[in-house]
Amino acid sequence: MEKKRTFSREAGRETGERRQSLCPVSKKCGGCQYVDMPYEEQLKKKQRQAELLLKEFGKVRPIIGMEQPAHYRNKVHAVFDFQKGKGIVSGIYQEKSHRVVPVQSCLLEDQKAGEIILSVRELAKSFKIKAYNEDSGYGLLRHVLVRVGHVTGEIMVVLVLGSPILPSKKNFVNELCKLHPEITTILINVNNKRTSMVLGEKEQVIYGKGYIEDELCGRRFKISAKSFYQVNSVQTEALYAKAAEYAQLTGRETVVDAYCGIGTIALAVAGQAGKVIGVELNRDAVRDAVANARINQIKNADFYQNDAGRFLTQMADAGEQVDVLFLDPPRSGSTEEFLDALIQISPKRVVYISCEPETLARDLKYLTGKSRYRVREMTPVDMFPYTGNTEVVCLLSKT
Ligand code: SAH
Repeated sequence: MEKKRTFSREAGRETGERRQSLCPVSKKCGGCQYVDMPYEEQLKKKQRQAELLLKEFGKVRPIIGMEQPAHYRNKVHAVFDFQKGKGIVSGIYQEKSHRVVPVQSCLLEDQKAGEIILSVRELAKSFKIKAYNEDSGYGLLRHVLVRVGHVTGEIMVVLVLGSPILPSKKNFVNELCKLHPEITTILINVNNKRTSMVLGEKEQVIYGKGYIEDELCGRRFKISAKSFYQVNSVQTEALYAKAAEYAQLTGRETVVDAYCGIGTIALAVAGQAGKVIGVELNRDAVRDAVANARINQIKNADFYQNDAGRFLTQMADAGEQVDVLFLDPPRSGSTEEFLDALIQISPKRVVYISCEPETLARDLKYLTGKSRYRVREMTPVDMFPYTGNTEVVCLLSKT
């Protein structure tokens, strides 16, 4: 790799040798903290971090890494902006700010998705579509979200607009699909709020069926724009395989999948269980989960739209019996309400999947302090190469 000398202008002296980064905007973006670290070293670092936080609870097995760690993200998001001298640009927010850093390509993202975003940028220029200005509320195009089915190759494009009308909608769709015939559906999502959330409530399908399907663990899944779907499909299979191994299902168990998203874990293990029950807060995701049970002809799965803590408390109060409980909460982790209900229900095995080892450590401390549950084993899985994030799957049972 090319070596480059860097100089500090202020001091007017050499500050040392630095290798040129694999990504020209990595310093501004901050999305991949480990961009210039060899992959083996990244894995070692994540292993050490997981051990530091978690080894007081039990054994941390070696991290499961990727064979080919680049371009793994199946969901790609770009924010649009107008910049003096550059015109319409698309990229990412600079770390901890609302400044947009223009991006041409990204090491993490699916390459086709990246190309589609560049085409939207060019088409926006020729259709004279203005980028939305967050301060004034003027302009139209705010964000573009692209989702790619890893196995099926189906592609969804979501145009997030500040108001519902896209001028020359038909021509825009035709031109975009001509450039990228792989696109299977296009939606408009309207977000007119001053918010850091990408997607707004209202949605309109302007091409195709309005969702994509993908395959994971031998099952087929319908994925809507607003539903959560793991961004790294290859590693998700490794993660779920480890979770299923920890669950030790025999075909008779009653299983809960809490924070279930579109039902991927529940449906992946339904064939090895008596009954699976999924709970999820997001309405669209629950709708997808119900459809996914049908698509895969799975009859022993039920899905509920509710807060996971409230739902589990209701189950505990009703005296419901659960053999194995999976939980896969967002980065903020689970809640005391949820963990108290878990203790009351007392499943034989708990499989906790976490995308934030710090909240996992907090929840394990609470759970092990208040009950006889102990960690049997943990395995980190590298779901997010080049970034500082680590996923951990953890098996607990009672002493
Ligand atoms: N297990 C799924 C989803 C994990 S992501 C998968 O592997 O794909 C976490 C999920 O928790 C998201 O779908 C999010 O919508 C949901 N969620 C967030 N807060 C919740 C809450 N309080 N109760 C239930 N679900 C919640």
